[in-house]
Amino acid sequence: VPAVRIRNFCIIAHIDHGKSTLADRLLQATGTVEDRQMKEQFLDNMDLERERGITIKLQAARMNYTAKDGQQYVLNLIDTPGHVDFSYEVSRSLVACEGALLVVDASQGVEAQTLANVYLALESNLEIIPVLNKIDLPGAEPERVIGEIEEIIGLDCSGAILASAKEGIGINEILEAVVERIPPPPNTINERLRALIFDSYYDSYRGVIVYFRVMDGTVKKGDRIHLMASGKEFEIDELGVLSPTQKQVDELHAGEVGYLGAAIKAVADARVGDTITLSKAKAESPLPGYAEANPMVFCGMFPIDADQFEDLREALEKLELNDAALHYEPETSSAMGFGFRCGFLGLLHMEIVQERLEREYNLDLIITAPSVIYKVITVKGEELYIDNPSRLPSPNDREKIEEPYVQVEMITPETYVGSLMELSQNRRGIFKDMKYLAQGRTTLTYELPLAEVVTDFFDQMKSRSRGYASMEYHIIGYRENPLVKLDIMINGDPVDSLAMIVHRDKAYNVGRAMAEKLKELIPRHQFKVPIQASIGSKVIASEHIPALRKDVLAKCYGGDISRKKKLLQKQAKGKKRMKSVGTVDVPQEAFMAVLRLD
Ligand code: GDP
Ligand code: MG
Repeated sequence: VPAVRIRNFCIIAHIDHGKSTLADRLLQATGTVEDRQMKEQFLDNMDLERERGITIKLQAARMNYTAKDGQQYVLNLIDTPGHVDFSYEVSRSLVACEGALLVVDASQGVEAQTLANVYLALESNLEIIPVLNKIDLPGAEPERVIGEIEEIIGLDCSGAILASAKEGIGINEILEAVVERIPPPPNTINERLRALIFDSYYDSYRGVIVYFRVMDGTVKKGDRIHLMASGKEFEIDELGVLSPTQKQVDELHAGEVGYLGAAIKAVADARVGDTITLSKAKAESPLPGYAEANPMVFCGMFPIDADQFEDLREALEKLELNDAALHYEPETSSAMGFGFRCGFLGLLHMEIVQERLEREYNLDLIITAPSVIYKVITVKGEELYIDNPSRLPSPNDREKIEEPYVQVEMITPETYVGSLMELSQNRRGIFKDMKYLAQGRTTLTYELPLAEVVTDFFDQMKSRSRGYASMEYHIIGYRENPLVKLDIMINGDPVDSLAMIVHRDKAYNVGRAMAEKLKELIPRHQFKVPIQASIGSKVIASEHIPALRKDVLAKCYGGDISRKKKLLQKQAKGKKRMKSVGTVDVPQEAFMAVLRLD
């Protein structure tokens, strides 16, 4: 196909605004997928994604479309993930496109995540086509939402398309607009090969399958390729396009989107953002914008049964083949035994990995509360990065501690502004900006310590706004703060996996709340269990769990059968998720107690 008849585009949308439904309609309307083989939501095919209603992985689809001008076009739709944790992947898939459909639910409006992605698209000079979706809904107010898009983004909406992905309204207009308004890729077929990796996944039979956009030159099956960031070389044994299932071809040219297999062992060897070139005719410089995915959130993962340690290691090794952003290293905890310290892009990424380990690998794990990376300058002038609070150097050895800060943007109905400001202030937030939008909606901007966001900020924001507010955040750098280490002792022993780093001004309250929460969460034992919170050698909070009274069980045996059953059921359920810390059984919830203090 000549470049002039190719259009590469993606869809930017907030969750639930209809991206997947629209993508399906486009595939159907172009005959790419026949109606009868149309699985519901073809593009979102990971189980986890569908269950959570989120898009995690990027994929692409190539469609043939005969436009009103009578010409046949190739339209490549590149799907983007819809969550902040994966914004780097979003940025790479945008760079692979010349245009974007901005899909906004006409009964809702612009949301924070949509904004973040539109700004990324504008930075990459993409042609943006606004699509007001769900106009079939009685509550749809396309005019109001168009006003909002113009006001917030400053985007000309005179050519906005009114659509209903569900009812199939506006689909042809969208396809025509893609052809007419999105520019074709530049014709750089005669330059040296440069192809941008925007996604990859591990296949146990074929090795890593790489999705790419050819930016310059030509790539052929059998070519020996060189990856400019990883420095690795491979021979292409499979080359193809996604229509949307994989279909092999012999070569792909500048402007085209495709996939390749080359016996690549792990996705870390062919990362998103890397540039593919030819070994025998290397490009002079890689495509701009490559960055390593840096984990921001860390937690400990320990098998409940120590015998599962090797299984956990194997499972992490397998997941790593498919997830270049997952980091892990062995961790030994005096309280928990052998496990791993794992690093993630964000909380969602962390939850996805945990869930896969438990579901797909049948592991029973205890997971410790999420932590960020602290930067410590020692008295000797060394710079240390601490991803595990229990490893924080003692106050005598450290000069200062810095913690990562993020800028958080929230969009909310005006009624919840007060409550969200209170939440942000409680989390040590620094107010930056507030803007009134049309129709009683407001944007709020705060700078917050990442540590305060990775606890339950998102859930709190959702519950305080009855689900109406949305947020987006990005890292803005490290800042010094008077932080201290809070230790928790159970039955007289410090539990390293419960140690946390908190702001000095909050330490007393957090310590007291932790001790109370643990008292609630840890079951009674045959003996009295003291619980203490301390800073250094100073105990700041002290509680105890009274010993079980023998007659409690005796009473059960005596009479009330259903109560006894309940008690035993509760025990059985609890057992699965308990870790013995010394002689005390501590349930999973206790390790996450810090997330549920208020
Ligand atoms: P995504 O999260 O952006 O991929 O959104 P989905 O495509 O999964 O759609 C979210 C929900 O909105 C689903 O229940 C869809 O059936 C529904 N939906 C999508 N488009 C429309 C539309 O045009 N009209 C109506 N009424 N519902 C729609
Ligand atoms: Mg979707």
